[in-house]
Amino acid sequence: MPVSAAAPAAPVPMIGIDLGTTNSSIAVWEGGQARLIANSLGEVLTPSVVSVDEAGHVLVGRAAEHRRITHPHLTAAVFKRVMGSAKRFRLGPREFAPEELSSLVLTSLKHDAEAALGQPVREAVISVPAYFNDTQRKATKNAAELAGLKVSRLINEPTAAALAFGLHQSRDETRFLVFDLGGGTFDVSIVELFEGVVEVKASTGDNYLGGEDFTQVIAQDMAQQFGLDAARLESDGTLRNRLHAVAERCKQALGTGKSATDQLHLDGQERSCAIDEERFETLASDLLARLRKPIERAMRDSRLKPAALDSIVMVGGASRMPVVRKIVARMFGRFPDTSVHPDHAIALGAAVQAALIAQDAALSEVLMTDVCPYSLGVEVSETIAPNQNLDGLFSPIIERNTVVPASRMGLYHTMHDGQTEIDLKVYQGEQRFVKDNVYLGSLKVKVPPLKGGEINVEVRFSYDVSGLLEVDATVLNTGKKHSLTLLGHASAMSEEEVATRRAELSRLKIHPRDDMPNKLVLTRIERLYAELSGPEREAVGQALTQFTMALNSQDTERIARERKQVSQWLDGLEASPLN
Ligand code: AMP
Repeated sequence: MPVSAAAPAAPVPMIGIDLGTTNSSIAVWEGGQARLIANSLGEVLTPSVVSVDEAGHVLVGRAAEHRRITHPHLTAAVFKRVMGSAKRFRLGPREFAPEELSSLVLTSLKHDAEAALGQPVREAVISVPAYFNDTQRKATKNAAELAGLKVSRLINEPTAAALAFGLHQSRDETRFLVFDLGGGTFDVSIVELFEGVVEVKASTGDNYLGGEDFTQVIAQDMAQQFGLDAARLESDGTLRNRLHAVAERCKQALGTGKSATDQLHLDGQERSCAIDEERFETLASDLLARLRKPIERAMRDSRLKPAALDSIVMVGGASRMPVVRKIVARMFGRFPDTSVHPDHAIALGAAVQAALIAQDAALSEVLMTDVCPYSLGVEVSETIAPNQNLDGLFSPIIERNTVVPASRMGLYHTMHDGQTEIDLKVYQGEQRFVKDNVYLGSLKVKVPPLKGGEINVEVRFSYDVSGLLEVDATVLNTGKKHSLTLLGHASAMSEEEVATRRAELSRLKIHPRDDMPNKLVLTRIERLYAELSGPEREAVGQALTQFTMALNSQDTERIARERKQVSQWLDGLEASPLN
């Protein structure tokens, strides 16, 4: 009987994912380089927006983004900002945790990659803001698992950008600062590159500062111009999202002009609003001031003077704002480097990391080291006088900017006579008092009742390359070792919960990928119908009828022809100065 040789197994694709606040993207390492993979619309950026449509189908990306305006109650965006928190988003009949919404974005990217590569994608390197804490990292990992993806590593976003930038450097030795201002987070890293070693020297940031905050200050200013009070905006999601869209357009327009004007259809009237560069700078002055601190700290931690840096690399969509570039230029006395694409660098760098993990031959000379950006430690009390304790103090075990993986130990003892349990509370941060740091979780260690101070406990923190923390506590008196995982926040998902949620999510109907271009046109027409008024609105309504008729014909050629025509017409309509 003839036998055929088994086909050689296809190599596992080396995938990197940038799971962004505003947009996400996916890249693959192939033939010695990283390349971005386009979605079903041919775009490499997929908006991190999820919506549920009338048929109960889940939409992800551009079509969902249009529905932010038309169906705010069925659409969620900017959920990365609350990853790992107890916040829930209600979309129609179902509530979603931020990690579930992220998992839907990841599922969509995974499908795009599988369609492009013609093979399953089961593993990826996923980027996270360097300043993401342990809970947020675990939530990201859970999101990937919910999407059926194994995380081969979480990579810090500026580190990924540094890899993408560093590999193109012709110089053997260079030092640069990566300034990464995304939609919701701000990260700064200082990176040194010498003889193929990419070494992150320091990483700092602000988890609650990003492009969205800049859009928000413009939106608030416009609300004032239009006489809209907070209560009305709170109760009217469509109006809020339309105002946000106008503010976003103005913010982006200020990138190419000194001023921007726009319109909002309000109470049956077309109302104009305007903003210029100077006003924007004033409105954003607090936000701009907040950019300085992490930069100064990164410089201090790496013990470098600004002159020692060869370049300042700007990444993240919000780094495009001229007001931001001006601040950076002023701080460093030179113009920042904009040679890497601010929206592409992170996914590309994550794919480089995937190739490094897979030990791809093209990267055999490259080595990468990263640091943990914040200090991790436990809460302690100190005796300051007989019978007088100072409680709530922070005792760091791993200091910030320690090279990872790292394992460090701290020695602690009981305070009270007869104490039978030590409640180890784990915090992240740099402040003397734990109340000013971020609480990560706690663990209880049982101890035999002895005199206060007689029980010694060795606490070991191990921080892996993904920035995930493990805690071990050994009671030295008994030799008993407790290998403990953090109990974490109430919102953190256990493994079982991940499995249950995954089964639930798999029952959701995802809008068919192949139909996305049509769905996009429909959602875009619906958005414009909601935004416009008068004859233009009527024309948009007619376009909707015509396109719906084409869809009903089920004639693929006619649908494709009409889709192209109507898309071009919509492009023209949106580009006209009135809109
Ligand atoms: P990211 O998370 O890196 O995708 O960055 C998204 C952020 O970049 C959002 O806050 C956008 O408003 C902002 N952004 C994108 N393009 C521009 C632009 N041309 N000018 C100003 N901000 C932009």
